[in-house]
Amino acid sequence: MDLGLRDKAVLVTAASQGLGRATAESFAREGARVALCARDPAALEQAAAAARQAGAAEVLSLPCDLTDPIAIDDMVGEVIKVFGTLHVLVNNAGGPPPGRFHQLDDAAWQKAFDLTLMSAVRATRAALPVMRAQRWGRIVNISSYTVKQPIPDIMLSNSLRLAVAGWAKSLATDIARDNVLINTVGPGWTRTGRVTQLMETRATGGRTPADAEADIVATVPLGRLAEPQEIADVVTFLASERASFVTGTFLAVDGGVVQGPT
Ligand code: NAD
Repeated sequence: MDLGLRDKAVLVTAASQGLGRATAESFAREGARVALCARDPAALEQAAAAARQAGAAEVLSLPCDLTDPIAIDDMVGEVIKVFGTLHVLVNNAGGPPPGRFHQLDDAAWQKAFDLTLMSAVRATRAALPVMRAQRWGRIVNISSYTVKQPIPDIMLSNSLRLAVAGWAKSLATDIARDNVLINTVGPGWTRTGRVTQLMETRATGGRTPADAEADIVATVPLGRLAEPQEIADVVTFLASERASFVTGTFLAVDGGVVQGPT
């Protein structure tokens, strides 16, 4: 299947590692022009090198803190200036910190609001004018399966990812007539640095990281964690010419974890 992404101008945010990096590489394999952003220039440069190696037509890496509104606006503007346009925006960001309701003050909520919801809102606001003008655009949000089935101790994530899903669903209608499509992907447990670290944290009282992984795997009908590329490939498909009649959806990519219709 030709995804029709050759030479398309793509921006993946928070792409120095994990799902963002794998997504950038997936677009690179399709011959797209790929821009990556994250905070750490050194890690970003490694991810950019991997995207070049994977076959990207062009690679642009731009340091950016996704909690800073001006930095987001400047970064998206620079991508549009260098590539001449923008066809695909993948909104990804680090997850907000864990915590239960009684552990979270206003500052924690505000930070998570900026990182999880407003980073996507702001990047999309900066990207939409060129997408609408050229009557071709794809926006894909990387979220979590927890939109459908919350995990008890990640209150901020459970709450703000629902806001992203609601925002995307509403926006889909506004921009559809300009052939700009927006969808949200909900990864399940995926083997990234974040999850490896979580398993190490859970390895207490004589339990090993492998025990912690076994606990997680027991909840996954497919019986394993996902590899980052398995999420990235779904994101890439949704951003492609082949998904031209798909908009406003939430798609869990979770190995069957969510019990109920998604
Ligand atoms: P990760 O921690 O491995 O990578 C996160 C990326 O975000 C890194 O590149 C980091 O530098 C970047 N980042 C964090 N804060 C940033 C900021 N303020 N500005 C710019 N960049 C920033 O995480 P991951 O596992 O790749 O997950 C990506 C997203 O998907 C997260 O929101 C995570 O919660 C979500 N998710 C992950 C899983 C999983 O199992 N890995 C499952 C469901 C949802």
